[in-house]
Amino acid sequence: AKQNGRNSYRFFTSEIQSRSARILSLENALRYAQVRGELSLHYQPQVSLCDGKIVGVEALLRWHHPEFGMISPCEFIPIAEESGQILLIGEWVMRTAAKAMKEWLDIGFPAMSVAVNLSAVQFHHAHLSKLVSSIIDEVNLPACYFEIELTESVTAQNPVHAIATMNELNAKGIRLSIDDFGTGYSSLSYLKRFKVYKLKIDQSFIRDISIDPEDREIVKTIIALGKSLGLKTIAEGVETKEQLDFLKENGCDEAQGYYFSKPLNVTDLEALLKHPEII
Ligand code: C2E
Ligand code: CA
Ligand code: CA
Ligand code: CA
Repeated sequence: AKQNGRNSYRFFTSEIQSRSARILSLENALRYAQVRGELSLHYQPQVSLCDGKIVGVEALLRWHHPEFGMISPCEFIPIAEESGQILLIGEWVMRTAAKAMKEWLDIGFPAMSVAVNLSAVQFHHAHLSKLVSSIIDEVNLPACYFEIELTESVTAQNPVHAIATMNELNAKGIRLSIDDFGTGYSSLSYLKRFKVYKLKIDQSFIRDISIDPEDREIVKTIIALGKSLGLKTIAEGVETKEQLDFLKENGCDEAQGYYFSKPLNVTDLEALLKHPEII
């Protein structure tokens, strides 16, 4: 209200101050998060739509701070990117995920891949492909079980460098997926030159698939695009039987979402892998 102009202005600045105070304290706390054991990975199954089997898992970072509680990656990843801490954290994510997958394969769980998310800062950092291959060598995980998820914006930032890095990763046998596909801008000609393996159809197109004809067309188009370029397609954010049926009918290869399973901690994932028929 006008008569409270001064007060609301004061309120506004104090809100900004407390927001940036939270960012600062999170940035500071993030420095110690890994050594203090506050970070963990959850794994969400990716399911083949031809036989319903789990063919992979996506590693998703979790941060449980003793005082602040669970902090969403949507809040702390941007802070880690901004401060550069994402490089060390991201390396921890790759090593932890690779180690876990190696153990699961050794235990004798059916062959599947682990996918990790990479930020632009990590992807455009020099020697990414060297780092990735040293991690999987150290852990003794065959490259074909390790996947990297990148968003369109990561690849659009510097397409020439992106293509070079993708070629290096490909040469080492590491597979790449384009995450959140359809939400960003990807030139089709680049897509042809990008050595990607999989398109992840963004969950915003899946959400209203049973009621929104436009979304249905978009999803069909992405699946067809994938087929014509020889790329696998996976739908994310699948929550209902209707969504699943539509995806099957239209030839989508894989799906991931709460309909099958939410992201699980190691114990719960291992329990699921022992009894995959419950999915
Ligand atoms: P993303 O890579 O697009 O991951 C998918 C997000 O959707 C995850 O949120 C997942 O928990 C959630 N999700 C999965 N199935 C469903 C579903 O059926 N319905 C709905 N509504 N949501 C579903 P989460 O775990 O909170 O992660 C958010 C974002 O944080 C990720 O989006 C990714 O961009 C980023 N992130 C997470 N872990 C890492 C990491 O290790 N490194 C980097 N750089 N980013 C990460
Ligand atoms: Ca992802
Ligand atoms: Ca995504
Ligand atoms: Ca996303």
